Amino acid sequence: MESGYSVTPWEARGKIDYDKLIEEFGVEKLGPELVERIGRLAGGLHWLLRRGFFFAHRDLGLVLDDYEAGRGFFLYTGRAPSNSPMHIAHIVPFVATRWLQEKFNVNVYIEIPDEEKFLAKKVESLDEVEPYVRQDILNIAALGFDPDRTFIFRDTEYISRMYRAAVRVARLINFSTAKAVFGFDGETSIGLIFYPALQIVPTLFENKRPLIPCGIDQDPYFRLQRDIAPRLGRYKTAEMLSKLVWGLTGPETKMSASQPETAILLNDPPDVVKKKIMNAYTGGRATIEEQRKLGGVPEVCTVFHWYSVLFEEDDKKLEERYWACKTGKLTCGECKLELVQRINRFLEQHRANVKRAEEKLHLYMYDGKLAQEMWNWEFR
Ligand code: SF4
Repeated sequence: MESGYSVTPWEARGKIDYDKLIEEFGVEKLGPELVERIGRLAGGLHWLLRRGFFFAHRDLGLVLDDYEAGRGFFLYTGRAPSNSPMHIAHIVPFVATRWLQEKFNVNVYIEIPDEEKFLAKKVESLDEVEPYVRQDILNIAALGFDPDRTFIFRDTEYISRMYRAAVRVARLINFSTAKAVFGFDGETSIGLIFYPALQIVPTLFENKRPLIPCGIDQDPYFRLQRDIAPRLGRYKTAEMLSKLVWGLTGPETKMSASQPETAILLNDPPDVVKKKIMNAYTGGRATIEEQRKLGGVPEVCTVFHWYSVLFEEDDKKLEERYWACKTGKLTCGECKLELVQRINRFLEQHRANVKRAEEKLHLYMYDGKLAQEMWNWEFR
């Protein structure tokens, strides 16, 4: 960690310099021209794009070229279930994916690699993950994906359709490359060594350009796809890359379900949400008097960060909050309590949406228009 930070698919540590990361990862900056072009084609912009939370990309301009030329594109994302519930940061890429689906009217493929945590030795048995598989799928479906244009599949169930493509992918990736990209060593299970092939297969589902909205930390997974896709006669994966959502313990922390104090879990009850937010790291001063006199520092405040990422859609109101903090008009207590209310309202609505999604689950997984097509899919 010479640069003072480290960002890999397995960890994020330190104060991340996103401009440096663009250079290190060899991705492109998502600048105002491209953002404006997305807004023009979509008829508006999601706040995650307006505020620069999605800040980098690979081939996003080509995706828009394909869209304008009528060739289209498709979206791909996923979630590896673990032995704990999803937290709020997990849903950010899905929020962006759903928005893109709605605006561009494209298919979405959502992989649920229900074997990954077991192969990575993060859980002791497949059964340990099982209760969370359905819960995770429902949490994702509840965000409002189009049931006829969305296919949600779990690896252990859909493997028969994917396997022929996976072996073709696997043959093109040497162990030395996989080792360098994923950090495999002598202790890695041979199942995990094969697993990246399964993660690449959904990028081959259509002969169109796949677009993956994800955190920048996930980029290494898709570099391999970009190396081999042309040899399979398919498009290289495009990516729309976001910054990482801060954990509640500070700007240099990442939310982690295994460290409950850093995250709000989607099943946290209202009193737990309140306790976690009231203990969150802020940019506030030591006393109310100092806060009134000197103002707070929203730039380093996790509470302000959460407003900006998920809990304040209105740019004008976000700016007002920023200045109310800066000028000492707002105290951290008031600011946190309002966030508690917003999170609890969001979670209550989300749980109602989960109930409604239960009725549509069969459409996403088996009976919707896209799902039916995909149960007959073969890679040619
Ligand atoms: Fe953060 Fe709000 Fe306190 Fe400002 S007033 S430092 S934004 S919690």
